[in-house]
Amino acid sequence: MLRTNNCGELNLSDVGNRVTLAGWVQKIRNQGFVIWIDLRDRYGITQIIFDEERTDKKMLEKAQNLGREFVIQVQGTVIERVSKNPKINTGSIEILAEDFQILNASKTPPFTIENETDGGEELRMQYRYLDIRRNPVRENLIFRSKVSLAIRNYLSAHNFIDVETPYLIKSTPEGARDFVVPSRINSGEFYALPQSPQTFKQLLMVGGLDQYFQIVKCFRDEDLRADRQPEFTQIDCEMTFVEQEDILNRFEGLLKHLLQEIKGITIDEIPRITYSEAIKKYGNDKPDIRFGMEFCELTERAKGKGFQVFDQKELIVGIAVPGAASFTRKQIDALIDWVKRPQIGASGLIWVKCNEDGSYKSSVDKFYSQSDLEDWATATQASAGDLILIMAGETNDTRSQLSALRMELAEQLGLRDPEVFAPLWVIDFPLLEWDEENNCFHAMHHPFTAPKPEQIELLATKPEAVNANAYDLVLNGNEIGGGSIRIHDKKTQEIMFDLLGFTKEEAQAQFGFLMEAFQYGAPPHGGIALGLDRLVALLGGQETIRDFIAFPKNNSGRDLMINAPATIDPDQLDELNLKLKPKK
Ligand code: ASP
Repeated sequence: MLRTNNCGELNLSDVGNRVTLAGWVQKIRNQGFVIWIDLRDRYGITQIIFDEERTDKKMLEKAQNLGREFVIQVQGTVIERVSKNPKINTGSIEILAEDFQILNASKTPPFTIENETDGGEELRMQYRYLDIRRNPVRENLIFRSKVSLAIRNYLSAHNFIDVETPYLIKSTPEGARDFVVPSRINSGEFYALPQSPQTFKQLLMVGGLDQYFQIVKCFRDEDLRADRQPEFTQIDCEMTFVEQEDILNRFEGLLKHLLQEIKGITIDEIPRITYSEAIKKYGNDKPDIRFGMEFCELTERAKGKGFQVFDQKELIVGIAVPGAASFTRKQIDALIDWVKRPQIGASGLIWVKCNEDGSYKSSVDKFYSQSDLEDWATATQASAGDLILIMAGETNDTRSQLSALRMELAEQLGLRDPEVFAPLWVIDFPLLEWDEENNCFHAMHHPFTAPKPEQIELLATKPEAVNANAYDLVLNGNEIGGGSIRIHDKKTQEIMFDLLGFTKEEAQAQFGFLMEAFQYGAPPHGGIALGLDRLVALLGGQETIRDFIAFPKNNSGRDLMINAPATIDPDQLDELNLKLKPKK
């Protein structure tokens, strides 16, 4: 080893020992006759001292030429420090240098390697290896490794085996576009990178492996959205001879284990809500339940009182915002402007203040009596001091607009505490979704998801009414996982492909292998996949998944460090038998 110790471990009990350390020069304080250096490695920082009286002259001179981020090896003796730094582990000692070697020099880094850096996000991505030297980034990566290990331990302890599935495959539809890879030796043919190992894990169950997991990269060519990565990591799992209940219990156990191991938090049983209830109560299928403000439909109560705006609307729905009766006119106007922005697209907002004295003041006082408003307050469970906000319009749009407002208010009121964890199972998703544009059904989860057994008959007559044996795990308003019980017989799978608009030939060409396998004693099975990047970020109390990925892509799907994607040379194109269309 080039060192006897690391930079984070020496303390007063080591005083008098001769040691060798290696690391990066974090900081130099040069007073001419004394030089202090903060030497950094993954484990911490140790102060090195060179001085005129105790250090060889030549050494002192040589040390004058050190720069930030030089890599050095230092030999010296541990001594007690005169002015101690209680903030760091090694703050009571320093190393009186006897000799040192420059292992490698460094150019001046393009941004400071400090907790708070002066580098912008793009620059830090371009020099990600320097960014990783900073504590917060390094800590995040170490944290991710800890979470992965806890996951592996839990799943191994419950008999799951880790199996690798291939990356060069044929499309597995999860609702996005495939990344494709041309095959040189099979000219004109392409592999697809897996959007998930879905079909493979099912085939492992047909193969009798019983319980599988894999922490695995998945690839989805989706339109750009903030904080979405074209390649991301899933904790992918599948179980044999199970029902939905078994899977929910096993993975509830996993989340509880992680919260306990990683955060020291014990949580109660994870509540469950049906998809339709979630939509009705929160306006979306991944509700944040760290706070209330549940929707209350006021349609019947509010219509027919001469207020035209409401009378014509399909849905009138409100929420009670705790303690917000004190909002000023200006604050309320700001909220109205906020919901009217094109991103939200609402036509307006009606408000009712529940005054402390039991009276009500609203923006529709002309049309509604105090007792009408009291009725609304009772319905929305508003107390004195709360503010009721009401939206009206077409059902789906209004729900999603109010859902956005609910989240915005929670943010403004500080109700989204990242150290509070409120998971939720969403169950009973519809199996299919009607796609107006293409005039066909889409699988809401994916084509391999089983319908509720008691609704199988409905598939032929009223497919849109069939619910799936599918479930999502939601944490603090984020979908962190989803799965289903699978179809395991050829006939149902064929009906499903048919409903999804596949011809028999198309289904055979794309998924013949799966339907073939189903004819050789495929056992009942089901599974789930959790998004590791998001889960780690949430456990780490942060929003951005990029911060927990060693080499992330930016919002345009680029790796700024290696500059990918990039063009390839004409010979390579030739070899792959590909031609690029000339740019217009
Ligand atoms: N393959 C699914 C997904 O990636 C998860 C599952 O059904 O297990 O969302």
